[in-house]
Amino acid sequence: MAILVTGGAGYIGSHTVMALQERGEEIVVLDNLQQGHKQAVVAGKLYEGDLRDAAVLDRVFSENKIDAIIHFAANSLVGESMKIPGKYYHNNVYGTLCLLEKMNEYGVKKIVFSSTAATYGEPENVPIDEYDRTLPTNAYGDTKLAMEKMIGWFDTAHDIKSISLRYFNAAGAHASGKIGEDHRPETHLVPIVLEAALGKRPHVSVFGTDYPTEDGTCIRDYIHVSDLADAHILAVDALLGGAASAVYNLGNGQGFSVKEVIETARRVTGKEIPVVYEERRAGDPAVLVASSARARQELGWNPSRNKMEDIIASAWQWHQSRPNGYDN
Ligand code: UDP
Repeated sequence: MAILVTGGAGYIGSHTVMALQERGEEIVVLDNLQQGHKQAVVAGKLYEGDLRDAAVLDRVFSENKIDAIIHFAANSLVGESMKIPGKYYHNNVYGTLCLLEKMNEYGVKKIVFSSTAATYGEPENVPIDEYDRTLPTNAYGDTKLAMEKMIGWFDTAHDIKSISLRYFNAAGAHASGKIGEDHRPETHLVPIVLEAALGKRPHVSVFGTDYPTEDGTCIRDYIHVSDLADAHILAVDALLGGAASAVYNLGNGQGFSVKEVIETARRVTGKEIPVVYEERRAGDPAVLVASSARARQELGWNPSRNKMEDIIASAWQWHQSRPNGYDN
């Protein structure tokens, strides 16, 4: 029995592969290595290829006995999705359609899907729960919502059971220091702050100081990437145990402002971290905080690495030891 991880060379995918290996699972990774890093795949059999390439999927499914899929492979930059939406619909939505059709052909009936808080758009309530309105404010979030819905219709018609996990802000790195975050270009707050601490950037640009929050900067819910990885394994277990299809939020339930993240990083690193205050970034909601009560209750998820200091310290260990990411 093997678990197929699409996008297993990416940030969250590679941490999930690591967690699966720690459990002794047989792992197959499919990644086109456009964003992912070969060196990030610490275990399993790697197929370098694209979801939209039927020949590659045929090889993956015929050469391995796949019991369940964890599907990460997708483009995930909000800004880029607003400029080149076609790329997102093609790779994310059409790519997922190709995967679902092959699952059907080969009789694979379980899929854990990497979704996002961007499916909600501007929240109606804080914290956000899974019954709240989904109205994405960017093309990326819309593709993820479309993928969730498409997977749902494959359940209705073909009994493919799915768990969609809507992540809030993934951060941190594996405790071993072997893998971590390396996006090119980097757009996420925590790695940008740590690159500034390393002197790789002159400063951190803070996007907006006039939000309706206590210190005027945006509030986000940061969750350790290894806690996210654990949730995927619990979701696979639930599906293989016969669970019905479901959607779960994954977050800490605690919000930190951009200024608080920078202050915490200053304490953890002992570095000054210069800041420049700038205009708001398009499409940023003021506050995004998850209610993950449902994942805790139904999956038994218990995120344990939930102190902001510890999340940043784990990322700092990675950035200090690998200042050029996987290029070292
Ligand atoms: N942010 C910032 N400067 C940066 C990158 C991000 O002020 O260089 C802010 C961004 O506007 C948002 C928060 O940090 O309010 C988290 O952004 P990130 O891109 O990490 O995640 P998102 O919440 O957009 O998924």
